[in-house]
Amino acid sequence: MSTPPPEDLTAAQQTELRADLRALEVELEAQLEAGRDGARPVTLDQQAIGRVSRIDAIQQQQMLSEGLRRTRRRLDQVRRALRRAEVGDDYGQCSRCEEPIGYPRLKARPETPTCLSCQSALERRA
Ligand SMILES: [Zn+2]
Repeated sequence: MSTPPPEDLTAAQQTELRADLRALEVELEAQLEAGRDGARPVTLDQQAIGRVSRIDAIQQQQMLSEGLRRTRRRLDQVRRALRRAEVGDDYGQCSRCEEPIGYPRLKARPETPTCLSCQSALERRA
């Protein structure tokens, strides 16, 4: 079974994806805001908490800041995509091969800068 190659976005799809990007930007900003408090360096009161819960607290904090890093990276991508969508006319085009990324992929991840085959090529290299 072969899937047809992705097509260029219609004007309606572009409008819809721009709205998705804006909503995503707001959501990710809120996540960063909410996570900022949780990711503050743990001040460890050794008498108040034992060794095990101290390790727990550190691990939890590392997970939190890793999550925040990922959120920040995604927010960067979202903003870049928004700029392309609002200023340029190349939104929806793969930044590597310039082929259309395709609506289904953009609907799932509107901030994605590359088409599926470039993405998998990049992942294979990494
Ligand atoms: Zn591509």
